[in-house]
Amino acid sequence: MTTIACIPYRRESNSRRIVMNSDAILTVGSIAIDWLEMPDGTEGEVLGGSATYFILTASQFAPVHVVGVVGSDFPQEGHDLYKIHTANLDDLQVVDGKTFRWGGRYHENWENRTTLFTELGVFGDFKPAISQGNRSCPFVFLANIQPSLQLDVLGQMESPRLVITDTMNLWIDTALIDLKKVIAKTDIFLLNDNEAEKLTGLSDPEGAGRVLCRQGPKSVVVKLGSRGALLVEEERTVPVAAYKIDSVVDPTGAGDSYAGAMIGYLTSKKKTDLATIKKSTIYGNVMGSFAVQGYGLEGLLRINKMDIKKRIALYEKITRF
Ligand code: AMP
Repeated sequence: MTTIACIPYRRESNSRRIVMNSDAILTVGSIAIDWLEMPDGTEGEVLGGSATYFILTASQFAPVHVVGVVGSDFPQEGHDLYKIHTANLDDLQVVDGKTFRWGGRYHENWENRTTLFTELGVFGDFKPAISQGNRSCPFVFLANIQPSLQLDVLGQMESPRLVITDTMNLWIDTALIDLKKVIAKTDIFLLNDNEAEKLTGLSDPEGAGRVLCRQGPKSVVVKLGSRGALLVEEERTVPVAAYKIDSVVDPTGAGDSYAGAMIGYLTSKKKTDLATIKKSTIYGNVMGSFAVQGYGLEGLLRINKMDIKKRIALYEKITRF
């Protein structure tokens, strides 16, 4: 057994801001201790959680405010990581009990995985209370967590400009009614092709995306793993090519990183038309590709703005042909 910790380092341009910025993103999601098993035999415990991957990517673009909970067992390196990569932790609760834990085993193709366990721990009794200052964050990312919590957080926000939501199979199976309520209040809904089929009964990702567009979101991004994604709107569908990585180290967190880059990019834009959202998915692909090149959070911790810029340019060059 290997135990691998992720040692955070200080990024060059992550100044902490006190006033509410017009590009501030509020997120709620899991903050976790993950157990990961890779097909090459690497296994171990690492910091993880949907919110954790999200803050590492989104904070490259805009200030991130976090809503969440950790237990008394959350390691100091995790607290340090959150301090460094966020602008506001007023709504992060630290309570007696166990931090959310998730275990995953990847199959030989490095894409499919089996959930070994999900232990909600302190998320089981979590009651998010959004501080007055955080309620006016213009951008909201509802990362993967119980839909009832996503709804609770959204209900406390004062008319956000843009709401992006992610989910996973577990919640489609166990919390469908609440999940549908979240989808109805979402502007851009992110999910993968398996989840899209489970939600709509349609194996065709475009058809599934279109059905979901009629349930609330203006845009639906159906992710197709190494095959890229489809950006679906009521009238149009745009394919988005993947940035292919030959040597995947660990696919965990690719989806959350994708979302972090998308919303991060969108914070600097006045419009959210199809072309702008398409461009944001390019950032999503690129940040997802960095995430899978390292174990746990490592792939995201070692990059800087220049690495991102270079890979975006390379992606655009490759996909032009
Ligand atoms: P992704 O690979 O993008 O699906 O994200 C992986 C992260 O999601 C891991 O770090 C897990 O801790 C977290 N995760 C797994 N299952 C759940 C769940 N049911 N709810 C919230 N977060 C989860």
